[in-house]
Amino acid sequence: MIPPVARKFVAGETAPEALEHVEALNAKGVAGICNLLGEHYDDPADAARDTAAYCELIELIDDAGLEACVSVKPSQIGLDVADSMFADNLEQIAAQGAAHGVFVWVDMEDYTTTDATLEAYESLVREHDGGMGVCLQVNLNRTREDLERLADAPGKIRLVKGAYNEPKDISIREKERIDDRYRRLLEYMFEAYDDGIAVGSHDPAMISHARQLHEEYGTPYEVQMLTGVREERQYELAAAGVPVYQYIPYGTKWLSYFYRRLRERKGNLVFAARALVS
Ligand code: FAD
Repeated sequence: MIPPVARKFVAGETAPEALEHVEALNAKGVAGICNLLGEHYDDPADAARDTAAYCELIELIDDAGLEACVSVKPSQIGLDVADSMFADNLEQIAAQGAAHGVFVWVDMEDYTTTDATLEAYESLVREHDGGMGVCLQVNLNRTREDLERLADAPGKIRLVKGAYNEPKDISIREKERIDDRYRRLLEYMFEAYDDGIAVGSHDPAMISHARQLHEEYGTPYEVQMLTGVREERQYELAAAGVPVYQYIPYGTKWLSYFYRRLRERKGNLVFAARALVS
């Protein structure tokens, strides 16, 4: 069972719990992005099990008529075993998403996975003429070129600052440089993309820059934030008419995800400490 202190960041251990969370969010005007926790499987059976779990989840979302989509990690569905296994499993999930009208996101992991992830994504999103999106990371020097390459593809791009410590020769690490590049890449997207822009950030400065660019160019955009982070702001943005999606992790492998959230921000540690003593 998930302790109450971790429930701030994780919706539950099962799909029905995640969907209950989505239902509550939908009532507040926020849509859900469901992510079954799990990564770096080296056993094909684990990758097949989570692929099947995503296919079942897609059906449940459709049956329940919820405003929700899914987001899957490449190493959860076979990328650590073989590129071809990942591509085959993603194809199953994409086909199920298309059959049920449920959008499928592909998370981005460290730089060693970028080529294989984008190759499989691009081929599927073109084949299905949309219905899918992929995450691109601003800290990687290659991202501007990846954005240019995907500009004429259907689908959406979630722009994030990047969660992995990448080698210095292919990335930047300083917060100021990352923030500056995030703004420049958003500007490029609003100029070059007709739609499909997702701002995957809690940073008020990035969200307000996107808002200004939207007013200037008219290009639609959405904001995506994590469960348990700036939730009041999520509801405010939704009430102001901005499409907002909450990324909702769930599943039995919640412990390492919970520690990651605690480590990344002093405020989260204080929250956990207070919850434990109260
Ligand atoms: P930061 O630079 O961390 O913070 C900037 C400002 O935002 C802070 O100064 C503060 O004002 C505000 N803020 C941030 N956190 C909080 C908080 N807890 N409470 C209050 N204010 C806060 N990374 C990947 O590498 N691959 C992925 O597939 C991926 N998917 C993601 C999906 C979503 C929906 C989101 C939101 C992030 C994802 N990330 C992913 C993580 C991302 O790369 C960043 O590491 C993470 O979002 C932190 O950067 P930030 O833009 O939120 O702002």
